[in-house]
This record gives sequence, C-alpha cells and structure tokens, in this order.
Amino acid sequence: MDEILKQLPQHAKDTHKENKKYFDGLKKRPPKHLDALMQELHDAEFERTDCLKCANCCKTTGPLFTDKDVERIAKHFRMKEQKFIETYLRIDEDNDYVLQSVPCSFLGSDNYCSIYEVRPKACREFPHTDRKKFQQISNLTLKNVAICPAAFNIVEAMKKRLKD
Ligand code: SF4
Ligand code: SF4
Repeated sequence: MDEILKQLPQHAKDTHKENKKYFDGLKKRPPKHLDALMQELHDAEFERTDCLKCANCCKTTGPLFTDKDVERIAKHFRMKEQKFIETYLRIDEDNDYVLQSVPCSFLGSDNYCSIYEVRPKACREFPHTDRKKFQQISNLTLKNVAICPAAFNIVEAMKKRLKD
C-alpha cells in the first residue's frame, strides 16, 4: 500500500487532463445507468480495499464538520460544543468547520478511527464514489483520486466500462 500511495499523486496528475475532459462530457450526457454502475464499481472496489492498511484520507485531508457532526461528536466526548470547536476545529476559506491539523486527531496509530460510530458524515461518505448523480461532484472527485487509491481505481474502471 505504501508504494501505491507514494505513486498516487503522480498517477492522478498523469490522468488529470483526460479525467477532466471525461467528466465534462459526462456532465453533458450522463448515461441513464450511471448511478447503478457507480454503485457496482464502488462496491467491487471496496470489497478488495482494506482501508485500515491505508487511512490516507484521514492522514492527509480532513472532513468538513456539519453542525450536526459537531453536536453529535461533542456529546460523545461530553464536551460543550464550543469547547469541542476550540479544541479541534477551525473555519476554512469556505466558512466550513475543518480539522485544525492533519493527520486527524481521532486517528489511531493502528489506523482505526477512535470516533468511528459518531464520525462526521463526510467521513462516512468518502470518497463519494457511490453517490447518486456522480457526474455532479467531478471537481471533488478530481481531487480525491490523488488521495484515495480506491477512488482512482473506480474512476479508471468507470471510464473503461462506459467505453465498452
Ligand atoms: S477511503 Fe480511500 S483514502 Fe481513505 S482509507 Fe479507504 S482507500 Fe484509503
Ligand atoms: S474522524 Fe475518523 S474517519 Fe474521519 S478523518 Fe478522523 S480518523 Fe478518519
């Protein structure tokens, strides 16, 4: 996995132009079966992916924390929401709550998430490859393929399948 993660940014860079063009086309004419195809490709990729050997998302980028996330996680720690925010979060340029630093403070050295049951919605949904109307989050996906080897493989598989 280390070698895959080391090479991933370069692979993402090499495919960026092609992917961007591909997503532009997909947005204009999304195939009717895209949702079903993405669900299938997502499930197949995560069948063979062991996120505990990776955790690159938790190590290199953080989730956004919605108000509901803050409420739920602060409650889990029996902390006041404001105290939780001051301790772990900052506001980013889009006015969203994000982690003060990465790797995520809740990531253990064994790659387990210490707040797994109450983790942010964005963590539960990452890398969003089984999202309905996948073509609408192309900018996010173009970034995620440089972070997440599973997302990279899913996008490559999607291009191949839609070509057939
Ligand atoms: S979701 Fe992607 S980046 Fe995160 S741990 Fe799994 S394979 Fe790695
Ligand atoms: S909250 Fe958990 S799943 Fe989310 S980034 Fe942190 S360690 Fe990873």
